[in-house]
Amino acid sequence: MKIQQNILLSNFCTFKTGGCAKYFVAVKNIDELKQAVDFAEQNQLPVFVLGGGSNLLISDEGVNGLVIKMEMKGIEFNPSLRARHHFLNSQKAKLFANLKSGVGRRNPAMSETIQVTAFAGEIWDDFVEKCVEKNLYGLENLSGVPGTVGASAIQNIGAYGVEAKEVIDWVEVFDIETGETKKLKKNECQFGYRDSIFKKTEGKNLIVIRVVYKLQNFQQGVTQLKTDYKDIQEWVSTHSSLRDFLEPDFSTAQRVEPLKSLAQENRGNPASFLTPKQLREIIIQIRKNKLPDLKQFGTAGSFFKNPVITKKQLEKILQQYPNLPYFPHNQKKWAPDTHISNPQLFKISLAFILDKILGLKGFKEGETGVFEKHSLIIVNHGNATSTEIKNLAQKITKDIKQKTGLDIDNEVVLW
Ligand SMILES: Cc1cc2nc3c(=O)[nH]c(=O)nc-3n(C[C@H](O)[C@H](O)[C@H](O)COP(=O)(O)OP(=O)(O)OC[C@H]3O[C@@H](n4cnc5c(N)ncnc54)[C@H](O)[C@@H]3O)c2cc1C
Repeated sequence: MKIQQNILLSNFCTFKTGGCAKYFVAVKNIDELKQAVDFAEQNQLPVFVLGGGSNLLISDEGVNGLVIKMEMKGIEFNPSLRARHHFLNSQKAKLFANLKSGVGRRNPAMSETIQVTAFAGEIWDDFVEKCVEKNLYGLENLSGVPGTVGASAIQNIGAYGVEAKEVIDWVEVFDIETGETKKLKKNECQFGYRDSIFKKTEGKNLIVIRVVYKLQNFQQGVTQLKTDYKDIQEWVSTHSSLRDFLEPDFSTAQRVEPLKSLAQENRGNPASFLTPKQLREIIIQIRKNKLPDLKQFGTAGSFFKNPVITKKQLEKILQQYPNLPYFPHNQKKWAPDTHISNPQLFKISLAFILDKILGLKGFKEGETGVFEKHSLIIVNHGNATSTEIKNLAQKITKDIKQKTGLDIDNEVVLW
């Protein structure tokens, strides 16, 4: 473990902006993490924990403290998984036969929940891929999200109708204050919309070491994948031949033929015929068409959170903008015509406000701007500074306040 000085942080974040870390260290295990924290304490330095830098805007002045880059690796599947997996394979032929004849009933002999533990420094999408490869489902909708496993719990990442909290079982943390590790159960993590205890005062001292997820064994024809998100439904309905799109290993007669016939029979209900691996591929395709390519742009994804507002605020804003999409905060689908009944809190589409009300989609100012295909995303066109990006974000926040009266929160963390 080497503690370095004056390390340029723009090389460690996806915005590709920002100044230097006064001190910088990459840690690969808990001992190194403890040594790093001791160093910070001895030198009275604040600690900044870095994952993949994909949700950060780092100031041009840099960071006057110790940046600890989490590089702890390791993934463990519950040991009984292997037996279950073999068993699953041995049942495959039977399942396909059942599916073809439309039987596809639950086999009570098949076990379902598998605990998977991943260390904080694992690359999130590689981890998802490994789980899907093992025929486990639960994470496939979160395919393609940049960053690390550790931050999946910090941010409670979410995409395409799924949030990490739905599959997180518990989280192991290192407490900077006490120098001890402890386990937090899901309900102790206070997960919310892109929120958790780790973003609040009481959790600020906690560094996520590893996250334990509860995933399920996939059984075709039995499992209900989460496919009701509009983009997924649209993708399936506009791609008549799944064969054209699927990876080579799906293109065997054994797998594609039943899939194809099921797709035809169940058009409009992809949950009934997709596998987790196929759903992952679809999500990756959707994301490619919609989100900026990190090789071309600097960005940290959605810069802002969708506002969560009261029923009274919603009714007021709908008078002015009747087409504004919204949904009760405890649901996940945009529905402009959702009846305003019991729920008291509603999430509204900030993308709609930025695009249709403020006309900011594709807006460019110098080297920074709003992404042309997704108005929540601020991009660095090449040579932007963090200050320019921050100024644009502040201008947008002010414009929204002026037009709608709403206060909005950043999703991106500012250092
Ligand atoms: C193109 C693009 C698309 C994206 N799409 C999505 C999306 O669909 N859904 C979504 O939710 N997000 C999305 N994001 C945002 C981002 O990928 C996630 O927030 C991700 O979880 C950040 O992970 P990271 O490792 O890069 O975290 P970082 O950016 O390194 O850190 C983010 C915050 O978490 C803290 N942190 C990181 N690791 C730890 C740890 N182990 N312990 C304690 N604190 C830690 C950091 O201190 C910082 O405050 C997208 C970003 C980009 C660039």
